[in-house]
Amino acid sequence: MAAEHIYLDYNATAPVRPEVVAAMREALELGGNPSSVHSTGRRARGLVERSRAHIAGFLGAVPEALVFTSGGTEANGLALTGPVRSGRADALIIGATEHDAVRAPARRLGVPMFELRVSGDGVPDLAHLDDLLKTCIDRGLTPLVSVMHANNETGVLSPIRQIVDMVKDTTKGLVHTDAVQTIGRVHVDVAALGVDLLSLSGHKLGGPPGIGVLFVAEGLALDPLIEGGGQELGRRSGTENVPAIAGLAAAIEALDRDDHPFAEWRDRFEAHLMDAVPDAVVFGAGAPRLDNTTCFGVPELIGETQVMALDLAGFEVSSGAACSSGKVARSTVLAAMGQPDTISNSAIRLSLGWASRETDLERCLAAWTDHYRRWQSRRISGAANRDQEAHAPLHANT
Ligand code: PLP
Repeated sequence: MAAEHIYLDYNATAPVRPEVVAAMREALELGGNPSSVHSTGRRARGLVERSRAHIAGFLGAVPEALVFTSGGTEANGLALTGPVRSGRADALIIGATEHDAVRAPARRLGVPMFELRVSGDGVPDLAHLDDLLKTCIDRGLTPLVSVMHANNETGVLSPIRQIVDMVKDTTKGLVHTDAVQTIGRVHVDVAALGVDLLSLSGHKLGGPPGIGVLFVAEGLALDPLIEGGGQELGRRSGTENVPAIAGLAAAIEALDRDDHPFAEWRDRFEAHLMDAVPDAVVFGAGAPRLDNTTCFGVPELIGETQVMALDLAGFEVSSGAACSSGKVARSTVLAAMGQPDTISNSAIRLSLGWASRETDLERCLAAWTDHYRRWQSRRISGAANRDQEAHAPLHANT
């Protein structure tokens, strides 16, 4: 086993920051149920509300607009289900490259659902949005449009403000954005974006897993997914996860200390990759993208084999394609971008974050190139076909 592992999978999850561990320990030691009226309860409430105010300030929102959830998945589920069940929306338009945390609830809601196409670079097609909005108007439907702020596999950013303007100019519809991958990576201000709903998750930015937030615009009625004690203004019952909430606030506070020039590192990596292997394809290269993400493939080279070879060499990355419970699934993201299987099954994703160092990508590229050259020479000697049969593609839906 390699002595040192270099972690290049921040889009799956980020290592927890030390400041977060400290804040969570303090909250655990504080104890208390924020709904209790005694002093321990009131201290816990104080911590929750200070954390809420801090996170809201970071997003340009008022504190009451935030609903704490168990993560990005629940925030997305509430964002889609809440307005449909409350009767505020009766149709869905979702981006073709959305995460399953949006796709799955959208499919189950039983209202007309339309999929918004993306370009070959993964950017939502605004002419198609225009058509879909017209269809909704013709059919007397009020759409909830859910388009992710940035894609988890490719890092491609969506023009959310333009989408909001199009929806609001023509309909009484709502706009939700899954901002799980953008918080801390690009400036996110709910007022500037103009969205009605926005989801985030703690563990992508160095906070704890199992905590998320749904921003809900003032006056928007949501039916809750979880009912009970009426916490979070009745929008999400259950005793608040005080340590995780405090940890999320600490992670957001720590973002101010991040100033890595990820775009420079990533661009240098991609330039060297293309020099070494000219038929490599960088997905979404022509689109505005997150600085921390690169996702690429080489025709016929299997993604999962690369992930395993890199792991043995000490580099932790994801494949762009996945396998759950033994069933092989293509990357729906790359398929929506029109990529054929031969290339999309080859995709691997490298993503940087708060503890990344300048040399991480270059060192990973050296290991990857080594793997690539060995694969190529085996291929020439005819062994590659056997390899291909042995390894099913894996999908990183993270
Ligand atoms: N949305 C996107 C774009 C994601 O990448 C993820 C995480 O994999 C989620 C939602 C789900 O977030 P969580 O893991 O906090 O439930």
